[in-house]
Amino acid sequence: MDEHRNAVVIGGASGIGRAIAAAFAANGYRVVVADRNAAQAADVAAELGPPHTSAEADVTVEASVEALFAQTPDPLDAVVNCAGISAFAPIVDHDADQFRAVVDTCLTGGFLVLKHAGRRLRPGGAAVSLSSLNARQPAAALSAYCAAKAGLSMLTQVAALEWGERGVRVNAIAPGLVLTPLTEPALGVPGVVEDYVENTPLGRPGTVEEIAAAALFLCSDQAAWITGEVLDINGGAHLK
Ligand code: NAD
Repeated sequence: MDEHRNAVVIGGASGIGRAIAAAFAANGYRVVVADRNAAQAADVAAELGPPHTSAEADVTVEASVEALFAQTPDPLDAVVNCAGISAFAPIVDHDADQFRAVVDTCLTGGFLVLKHAGRRLRPGGAAVSLSSLNARQPAAALSAYCAAKAGLSMLTQVAALEWGERGVRVNAIAPGLVLTPLTEPALGVPGVVEDYVENTPLGRPGTVEEIAAAALFLCSDQAAWITGEVLDINGGAHLK
């Protein structure tokens, strides 16, 4: 019998998703590293080595998400969706297409992943989406991201309600500031990291490994009675 569990990590080519792919691979999962950046996803899978593989998938395109799940092992034990982008502009200056692109990736993409992963997750399996501290804490010039992540947190709870009967759990992780390629543009703005550190009880940004540990826990049998949870991992920044 195959002793591996099967996991798909979407947005697995970079940052948090890459760390999640590595954590799952190190803990008995066979991982499909999926990303719209196919070359980088392939590099990550090659680093992990066999039996881990990669796939090209764009969460904004339904046919692409459908094709991804058609080629992944069935049944699935875990799906973690880390695909995300952001855009920085005050509302009055915000380009509408840019706004739509963020919502398309972070919210509609999250929906498409749940839609097509849903029937393939086995009873006892779990989905995790990457929401954000910004789902509950507004940030100026980040309207599309805040709104999309707030929607993703609610979507998580709706899916948990719908799938509980089948024994499939659905949770989200809401990280605070973690230094990755996504947050690089914000880090160029003077004071961003300093403000975060000052307003965070634990006084530092997070690491990708700290987020990966939570994703692993939420997909494990140790979290068998946790569903519909949006887990704040931010050094206490949500308390201020
Ligand atoms: P990242 O930019 O390092 O990684 C994001 C990955 O998503 C990239 O590999 C990118 O190619 C992929 N991606 C983007 N659009 C895609 C699409 N349409 N289809 C498929 N893949 C796509 O960013 P990260 O910091 O690792 O962020 C991972 C997740 O965590 C995101 O959802 C982000 O919003 C969330 N998050 C990050 C932070 C942080 O501080 N880094 C904080 C809160 C939430």
